[in-house]
Amino acid sequence: MNREFLSIVAKLSESSNILVVGHIMPDGDDISSVLSAKIGLERLGKNVLAGIDWRIPWYFYEFEEVNQILTYEQVKERGFRPEVVLIVDASSPDRVGQFQEFFDSTTVLLMDHHATNTLFGDHNWVDTKFGSTAQMVVRVNNELGVPYDEKLATLNLMGIATDTGFFRYSNADETVFSDATKLVSLGGKVHLVSRIFENKRIEQFKLLSTMVDHLRLELDDKIVYSYLSKEDYENNNCNEDDSGGFVGELRSLRGVELAIFLSEYDSGEVHISFRSKDWFDCSKLATMLGGGGHPRAAGCTIKGDLYVIVEEVIREAKNLFLTSLTSLNDSASK
Ligand code: AMP
Ligand code: MN
Ligand code: MN
Repeated sequence: MNREFLSIVAKLSESSNILVVGHIMPDGDDISSVLSAKIGLERLGKNVLAGIDWRIPWYFYEFEEVNQILTYEQVKERGFRPEVVLIVDASSPDRVGQFQEFFDSTTVLLMDHHATNTLFGDHNWVDTKFGSTAQMVVRVNNELGVPYDEKLATLNLMGIATDTGFFRYSNADETVFSDATKLVSLGGKVHLVSRIFENKRIEQFKLLSTMVDHLRLELDDKIVYSYLSKEDYENNNCNEDDSGGFVGELRSLRGVELAIFLSEYDSGEVHISFRSKDWFDCSKLATMLGGGGHPRAAGCTIKGDLYVIVEEVIREAKNLFLTSLTSLNDSASK
């Protein structure tokens, strides 16, 4: 087994007070990994707190365990002094928000599957072969001898399911299926996981319709993009959490290779999600714009006027798309 994996297991094993931290703008893999690691370590008798420095989208509260995730302020109020901080699914220090403050006083253990990871921990187990960080948690829990039941298996399964688009994306490889099978055999329930996304408010359908109104196509319909402004959210009695999954709807359009969704947050920042189907490297584009991610799913956040940002991002996207297409065609004709 990987040396960094073994170091992380050893550190967790010898520590009594552990803080498990996820990333800002948390997704299903992040929430699943934080909770599966936290609950697993607790089952070994350890004193564990879990934290995410961001609001958790309401639909994840289908799992009551999500209430165990604390804000940065709540962790501070408890005066918690962890020996180690276990960070999951975060590719750079800014992604953990204010929890960076713990880095100086503790040993930082990092587990992640992003190619754009900056290896900012004291021990970094980063492996891009995994479709989800949740699968890395399965391995750590197994090595530590954590007992699984239906609850833990379902929570752990959530990360694998969500980061692979419910086993549909190109990262849904053999390991994804064998890990999922294992969790299902331990009691994991896929239908309980899918309930997070099959629980929509009617307002979200109306918000989707507003997004469709703003939809534009570029470069022979190979690029699709749309956006939602703060006013769009307000007018539909929604907030930015309610558009989770919209970029996937854009990508599902026939013939599209690259889908871009820009969302203006309450804070005035604009979050941009990129998704591609077959060949376009979204993480390259996101990294150019100050973010990161995976080849087929990436994102970045930019401060400024929404409409100016839409123009800039689409211009950059078209440029990179055309140069990437040229090199793709060149290598195909060689
Ligand atoms: P999203 O479009 O927000 O669902 O993010 C898609 C992927 O890109 C996920 O793997 C995120 O972890 C990653 N990502 C999103 N935003 C950022 C960012 N600002 N910096 C680094 N990675 C990001
Ligand atoms: Mn994530
Ligand atoms: Mn992930």
